[in-house]
Amino acid sequence: MKKTTTVVAKDTTNPYESMLARFDVAAKIIGLDEETHNVLKVPSKIVTVNLPVYMDDGSTRIFEGYRIIHSNILGPSKGGIRYSMMVDQDEVKALAAWMTWKCAIADIPYGGAKGGITCDPAKMSVGELERLTRAYTVAMSDVFGENQDIPAPDMNTGPREMAWIVDTYSKIKRAYIPGVVTGKPLHLGGSLGRTEATGRGVMIAAMEAMKKLKMDPKKTKAAVQGFGNVGSYAAHYFEAQGIRVVAISDVTGAYYNPKGIDINKAIAHAEANGRQLTGLKGAEKITNEQLLELNVDLLAPCAMENQITAKNVNNIKAKLIVEGANGPTTSGADEVLQKKGIVVIPDILANGGGVTVSYFEWVQNRNGYYWPLEEVVQKADASMKKAFKNCWDASTKYKVSMRIGAYIFAMNKVANAIKSRGHF
Ligand code: NAD
Repeated sequence: MKKTTTVVAKDTTNPYESMLARFDVAAKIIGLDEETHNVLKVPSKIVTVNLPVYMDDGSTRIFEGYRIIHSNILGPSKGGIRYSMMVDQDEVKALAAWMTWKCAIADIPYGGAKGGITCDPAKMSVGELERLTRAYTVAMSDVFGENQDIPAPDMNTGPREMAWIVDTYSKIKRAYIPGVVTGKPLHLGGSLGRTEATGRGVMIAAMEAMKKLKMDPKKTKAAVQGFGNVGSYAAHYFEAQGIRVVAISDVTGAYYNPKGIDINKAIAHAEANGRQLTGLKGAEKITNEQLLELNVDLLAPCAMENQITAKNVNNIKAKLIVEGANGPTTSGADEVLQKKGIVVIPDILANGGGVTVSYFEWVQNRNGYYWPLEEVVQKADASMKKAFKNCWDASTKYKVSMRIGAYIFAMNKVANAIKSRGHF
């Protein structure tokens, strides 16, 4: 596929600048008016809190937490909560904006937000994490709301944290309000299919792209970086499609077997091993950097930001990159990939399966009526295929990369809503 962009994005590893670089390119191409451009390039609300929490050793520690709402033009804002030492305001700002574009592409009636707490959950006890999560919920109780702002899990948070949030929030509001968060445990109103939804969507996006590129799944070799919620399910569904997954990785390193790795065994190994791949048998240990540069057809970065950068982009050999993680490719690396003819299915499209099923969870909570798994999966797959087509068509129409095509599709939609609603 030969495509050209006439406007070049500047390179940066700052996630917010990286988002803006692509946003500016797309804005120029569609001739976005200056007023709407100014509205969309800044978040609509930033809330920062400092949370004192009792630690198990009797001390009190202060944790910094954020909730940033980029836009609520298309509906209540939606976005996960991340626990990591890397969390800072610019990271959360970028992730919030990406959620705006992602929800527009997934065609769900939400705006974009993100939350985060700067902490190292691996060094905290369950009790400390519970007190921190409940303190954060109390501090954000006027921000969150099932018609206002709806959190969900992200890195290092999951159904357990969502259960604490729904419990704390419901106690404050004196009513049980499960729709205030998604990604809840099933017995608290979670949706069937939510846990695996992002990884499954990554597979659907990859299969749609492979059809366009005439790649046969049975002759395709894949490498998947990150083996958490997104990466492990993406690898599992790739394998189910006949794709040979030759490398997987996590924070402990990467594991390579040219004959293919048995993904279900790797998942069972990680589950029995504190969710880590250390000691995985039947694979050679390599580094995460080497995994990215392997001679594979399909590369799925599913761990974190800034993995494909100006430093390693020239060594990338995959024909197709499907971004399970948010922001794994820097804006400068994008240009090089495009010149090399490597097709990138961008994060704001490829990992939208998770927020789509989160939306289904919220709909089910509000109706008090729950769908069977087949219905969730069928609706989510159809939605991902439609989103892929919309972005593909935009990229073909404007002769730009899939990423810029995806931004163009999302920005047109949000800009139209801003113009119709107006402001005062
Ligand atoms: P997770 O915490 O479940 O898993 C993260 C994985 O990445 C773990 O296996 C971890 O060991 C690994 N990892 C961490 N640092 C690494 C490094 N330096 N090199 C290689 N691997 C490393 O998180 P997740 O929910 O799977 O999220 C992963 C990415 O996908 C994030 O960018 C997140 O924002 C994005 N995402 C997640 C969802 C979702 O539904 N969970 C939805 C959309 C996007």
